[in-house]
Order: sequence, then structure tokens, then C-alpha cells
Amino acid sequence: NMHYQILVIGGGTAGIMTASSLLKKNSKLSIAVIEPSETHWYQPAWTLVGGGTYSYEKTKRPMQSVMPKNAIWIKDRVISIHPNQNSVDTTLDKKYTYDFLIVAPGLKLDASLVEGLPESIDKGVVCSNYTNPNHTWDVIKNFKGGVALFTQPPKPYKCGGAPQKIMYLADDYFAKNGVKNSTKVVYASASDIIFAVPEIAKTLMKVVDRKEIGIKFNHELKKIDSNKQIAWFKVSPDYKEHNPIELDILQEKELIGIRYDMLHLVPPNTPPDFIKDSVLSDSTGWMDVDQYTLQHKEYPNIFGLGDVTNVPTSKTGAAIRKQAPIVVHNILELITYQKLGTTKYDGYSSCPFITGYGKMVLAEFDYTKKFTPDPKLKKMWIKDSSKEHWRLWILKKYILPYLYWNKMLKGKEV
Ligand code: FAD
Repeated sequence: NMHYQILVIGGGTAGIMTASSLLKKNSKLSIAVIEPSETHWYQPAWTLVGGGTYSYEKTKRPMQSVMPKNAIWIKDRVISIHPNQNSVDTTLDKKYTYDFLIVAPGLKLDASLVEGLPESIDKGVVCSNYTNPNHTWDVIKNFKGGVALFTQPPKPYKCGGAPQKIMYLADDYFAKNGVKNSTKVVYASASDIIFAVPEIAKTLMKVVDRKEIGIKFNHELKKIDSNKQIAWFKVSPDYKEHNPIELDILQEKELIGIRYDMLHLVPPNTPPDFIKDSVLSDSTGWMDVDQYTLQHKEYPNIFGLGDVTNVPTSKTGAAIRKQAPIVVHNILELITYQKLGTTKYDGYSSCPFITGYGKMVLAEFDYTKKFTPDPKLKKMWIKDSSKEHWRLWILKKYILPYLYWNKMLKGKEV
């Protein structure tokens, strides 16, 4: 059979949550998930892995074990989508057709966009929680002082806070292990603010000051010289600094260089090629969906969710937790009543800002960047999640992974 009522591209967080939830609501639906990987990853715990406080092994499970029982798993990779024929083509030279298509292949990490990065990533003192959090932990553990440089790329990239969280953990580790006195921790960010939600930004700036971290805003990583251990940045002329730290600053044409003794970075996050090259993308290459219904703007039987879309909010698993029910509801309404449902996605996303071992701040917000804490936190005796709290750390390290594997991936709303 090459035709499915609902075809899902990608068996990551978004694809599995949506397929499971659809089948939970109606087990008679014919659903196939096209996913080439044998492994499903819980990426939100990679920050903890990089900080040496969670096992990398525990963040992965066999794809088969998360695939909903009544879904067909097609172990293949989509190479092109043909919305006018309601079909997709795959690497194994197959063509599948659908009534409804759910596009959830996540995003692509493209190291080639930073000169010198393909050769240096995950080697020596260059690390990234986005590609190998085990290596990050090795680098942090073996760091003997000097400049610890952390970078944040331009938006959009997945998990707005991840480039910072690992810095706070590393700093805490340096302090506990006597290396902090001989260390300069530097945050070079492509943004001009620490975070877009004012309540959270206020707390984070206090953390930055307490830890005496030097921030260089408006710095975009362009090149790495891993032999000389220099990171090169494009810097806007009116760049801002917070807690200026004395550093060896180099200059080469229009780039500014900072010498490092360890470097944590985020490889450029881009849309997958087969989306960028398709008629489904907007001019920036991300999949073009209505930000409230998650329906494609041109093709009403195509929906998109997760990291691949152009909805203007932070790309996180937490956002998907609120997006999946909208996609499920809309598709079921279209099947039954031939029109969209009325519930809308409000842009909810969240970012668990770990600020040290045993400490966390939980940024929850919507399209307006208003702070929207979940009322359920009150039940955990957390009065103000914009402030550091150990109970939020417990939520992050123990409760959320449990809910992810046992509830969310099974299609239950939490
Ligand atoms: P993914 O989960 O990445 O899955 C995409 C799937 O599609 C993959 O299985 C892939 O194999 C498959 N695929 C790709 N191309 C194709 C193709 N052509 N055909 C078929 N299948 C394809 N989120 C939070 O909520 N909280 C956090 O604290 C948090 N921290 C993070 C920390 C780090 C270091 C990282 C890297 C991410 C973090 N995230 C966090 C973000 C979160 O993990 C992602 O937003 C989420 O996994 C996105 O889900 P997705 O389904 O869109 O993509």
C-alpha cells in the first residue's frame, strides 16, 4: 500500500506526538510515519549531559519503541514533496500519496556555514551540546582556566536558552572545582538582549552579574581557527557590552577575533534542504504555515509543526506540546466536517533556564513575549517561576523526561 489517509514526515518530537495523539483519538485512522533513523532522541536533556549530570544513553530510545502501535513506520527519507499530486518521493525511490500530510522533519545543523567549523566541531576544546553533549562534558571537565567562550547564533535556532544554560552549568562547575579564579567566562551573542521576556531577562542579568560573566552582544560567529584557538565574529558597529572583560582582541579585515581556551557554540540552524527547495517554504526557507492553525498557507491538506515551520516563536519541544493538539484537532475536524476547528495556537513556548546545578528559571511565553507561567506550577509550590528555584530543577531533570516518554509521546495531553 502506497496511499495513507495521513502521512507524517519525521518521527521526532513533533511527528510522534502528533501521530500518537491522532491514533489515540481515532484508532481506525490510516497513518504512516516516514522516518529514516533507528533512534529517537530526547534533546532537552542534552544540556544536562553537557554539564555532566545526566547520561547521554538515557536520552535515546529505539524508534520502534516510540512509534505508535497502530501507525506504519516507513524506514525511509523524504527527498521531495509534490503538493499538487498529494505525493512525496523518498531516497529508496518510492512514491507515497496522502489525503493529509503532516510535515515534521525538524531542522538542519549546517556547520559548513561557519568557516573552519566542519573540521573543528566536537574536536579538542571546541564543543557543542547540539551535536555531541558528551564531548562538551569532556571539555568542561578538562578545562584548566583561561577564556571559556560561549556563543549564541542569530535567530531562529532551536531552544533559545540552550547556548546560555550550558555556560551557567560550566561556570558553576569551574567555581566548585577551583578553576573559576583563573577563568574568564565570555558570552558572545548575535542578539542585543539576553532574552526577550522582561521578567526572565531581569533574573538572567542578575545571574550573569553574580557569576561575573562578560557579555558581548551583536557578535555573530563567522570563522574558527582551531589551531590558533581564535573565534572570529562579525560585529555590528554599535555593539553593546555588559561587564566588559579584558581580552586579547584581534582584527582581520571586518572580523573581530577572540582567543579561547574552550569554545562552546551552536552550528547554524537552517531549514532542511527538501523544505527550502520546495513550494512549501517562504522566502526564508522555513515551512510557511498559518501561525494560529498550523495549516499550510496554500495547501489546506498540509500541516506543519515543530522546528521546521516559520511560526514566530522559539523552536522547542515545549512549543510542540501545544502545537500538536491544534494540528490533531484541525485534521480531525477536516475529516469529519470538512472545515478547520476553532482552537488556535497562541505561540506558547518555554525555555527552562538552568542557572547552575540544582537551580532553574522557567521562561514560558506566547507570541506577544508575555510571561505566561503554567498555573500547574502552583501545585508544585513554585510561586514565581521567573526566579531561580530548586523545584524547577527537579521538574527539568526528573519530571519532564518522565512525562515526555510516558505521556507526551503516547499522545496524552499534559
Ligand atoms: P526533531 O525532534 O529534531 O525530529 C526530526 C525528525 O525528523 C528526526 O527523527 C529526523 O530523523 C527526521 N527527519 C529529518 N529529515 C527527514 C526526512 N527528509 N524524511 C523523513 N524524516 C526526516 N526543547 C524544549 O522544549 N526544552 C528544552 O529544554 C530544550 N533544550 C534543548 C537543548 C538542546 C541542546 C537542543 C539541541 C534542543 C533542545 N530543545 C529543547 C529543542 C527540542 O529538542 C526541539 O525543538 C524538538 O526536538 C523539535 O522537534 P521536531 O520533531 O521538530 O524535530
